[in-house]
Amino acid sequence: MKIGSFNHKSFYTTRFVFFFCFILSFWPLIELSAQIETAAAAMADDNSGRWVLVIHGGAGGGVKGTMAEEKEKEYLVKLDEALNLGAKILAKGGSSLDAVEAAIRYMEDCPLFNAGVGAVLNEDGKAELDAAIMDGRSGMAGAVAGVSIIKNPISAARRVMEKSNHVLIIGKGAEIFAKKQGVEMVEPAYFITPERLQDWEKWKSKNKGNSGNNQAKPGNPTPGQEKHGTVGAVALDQQGNLAAGTSTGGMMGKMVGRVGDTPIIGAGTYANNKTCAVSATGHGEYFIRDVVAYDLSAMMEYSGMPVEKAGQIIIMDKLAQQKANGGLIAVDKDGNICLPFNTNAMFRGFAKSNGEHEVAIY
Ligand code: ASP
Repeated sequence: MKIGSFNHKSFYTTRFVFFFCFILSFWPLIELSAQIETAAAAMADDNSGRWVLVIHGGAGGGVKGTMAEEKEKEYLVKLDEALNLGAKILAKGGSSLDAVEAAIRYMEDCPLFNAGVGAVLNEDGKAELDAAIMDGRSGMAGAVAGVSIIKNPISAARRVMEKSNHVLIIGKGAEIFAKKQGVEMVEPAYFITPERLQDWEKWKSKNKGNSGNNQAKPGNPTPGQEKHGTVGAVALDQQGNLAAGTSTGGMMGKMVGRVGDTPIIGAGTYANNKTCAVSATGHGEYFIRDVVAYDLSAMMEYSGMPVEKAGQIIIMDKLAQQKANGGLIAVDKDGNICLPFNTNAMFRGFAKSNGEHEVAIY
């Protein structure tokens, strides 16, 4: 009999098996913590699934009750459809630029709004369109002005931003560039709807020898609001990037070659990831002189003012004191929004990842 016989081999094998099983029992926990770490890193990199889209269809329109109920409904439905189109892109993780372009294209294609088809006409009875888009992440921007054969000027503006070395291209040059870029072209007559033609004829009979912007002097009131109707969109995507875009036919009876605030970066359109994205609508001459969209961003950047307060000051104080009509939409880098207007109405809407969703006119 072997006293004190001890099988080293089986002892160590048993211990190894035991230790292995012990480690293995913790494996799911190790896996889980690695997964949590990866998810946390991804969340620090993006906007935690948060997105926001705000749109406008211009600050025109009369007091509540003057527009036929049916027409009001039509506007609300179209605003909602534009909003849903952009919101879907953002909800899927798409970029703010894509959402802004899609929502604006939709409104350009809708004859109700003063952009693309249905745009107001200049003093010669022709549509001359302006549009701009800006990427808050890169600080890049693109715009076109005075174009009359580009079906969706906002898409041409985006090509200027992404495929040219310039920011703003006008008239023929913009049309040639857009065509080369494969942007859809149409005949000038495509933009003229019977309704807008009627508006223009009314304007013409009242303004013989005048162009529509002869009142754009500081202190003079903005001419009839039926001359507005620009469209715009601003968005914050899940990656935390801001974008802004605006598109317009300008103002009814404007001088041939007149350019408004819409395609002027910093006036009608601006985006900066450090602050906010802005799209304005109203009497363009004032918005250019007051550098409205950049002013809002600068107030936030230099004084830390919240977006709502800055928007309020610009539209309700600064512009109203000059009797300049209009409004704006803005979203800041944290998803706060503002939609101030000093007119009777502003066609507008917003949608957020938290389920908030609204369209309104008055
Ligand atoms: N801001 C545009 C312009 O002056 C017009 C508008 O927003 O209704 O061209």
